[in-house]
Amino acid sequence: MTDDRMALVTGASRGIGRAVALRLAAEGYAIAGCSTSDGEAARKTRAEVESMGVPAWFAPCDVRDVTQVEEFVKAAETALGPVTALVNNAGITRDRPAVLMSPQEWGDVVDTNLTGTWNTCHVVAYRMLKRKTGSIVNLSSIAGVYGNAGQTNYAATKAGIVGLSRSLAKEVARYGIRVNVVAPGFIDTDMTAELGEKQRAQALGRIPLGRFGDPADVADLVAFLLSGRAAYITGQVVQVDGGMVL
Ligand code: NAD
Repeated sequence: MTDDRMALVTGASRGIGRAVALRLAAEGYAIAGCSTSDGEAARKTRAEVESMGVPAWFAPCDVRDVTQVEEFVKAAETALGPVTALVNNAGITRDRPAVLMSPQEWGDVVDTNLTGTWNTCHVVAYRMLKRKTGSIVNLSSIAGVYGNAGQTNYAATKAGIVGLSRSLAKEVARYGIRVNVVAPGFIDTDMTAELGEKQRAQALGRIPLGRFGDPADVADLVAFLLSGRAAYITGQVVQVDGGMVL
């Protein structure tokens, strides 16, 4: 069953973004998804969304480039109607101790995670506030709230996303738009598949619920925060981490 809700999800081809796209499709949202790579993965996710009976529009878009973001949003709205929900999920890691990290590794992560999130908020929030409706969820990480050795670049961007989101929440609340942040712990995706056996065992030892999260665990929270059930919640950072940071 479709309705007039449309969700734009960045990094929708795989992992958490894919799970969010499928969860929102199950709720009746039309889905616009972007990713930089993974042509095959993006096509698969799009087919899965369409098999749920809602319209889907997937295209490559590099969130680091505000011009590409503007063109993507415009084309997505032409195809599916106004964006009513935005999920800034696209993100990368380039882990290394700060003293060994290259300026390139710093810059790549800042450009994708932080500037990318700002680019999409900048373009979409303008459209939402003209319509006086909309909801935004930005993906941070517990690393952005508590820090993590080897991730100064990643943690800085994820902390930046918290500041960006809380400030934006204050700017746009009077237009009826909410902005919240989801901060996952360890979730089973390609991103955490890079962890070695030892790192994985160490991480598991720190999670009271005794397992890595499933992308669907994150998607459920994102869907709740976007929905009318969260109508009085804005500017919040909600952790989904199996109790890892208590
Ligand atoms: P993933 O690597 O599995 O997927 C990342 C997605 O982002 C892909 O679709 C990729 O194409 C897209 N992407 C990367 N750079 C892009 C760009 N420049 N423009 C557009 N799309 C781009 O990652 P994931 O584990 O699903 O993580 C999703 C989000 O959740 C990220 O922001 C990540 O930081 C955050 N997060 C993940 C975990 C975890 O444990 N997996 C924990 C905390 C936070």
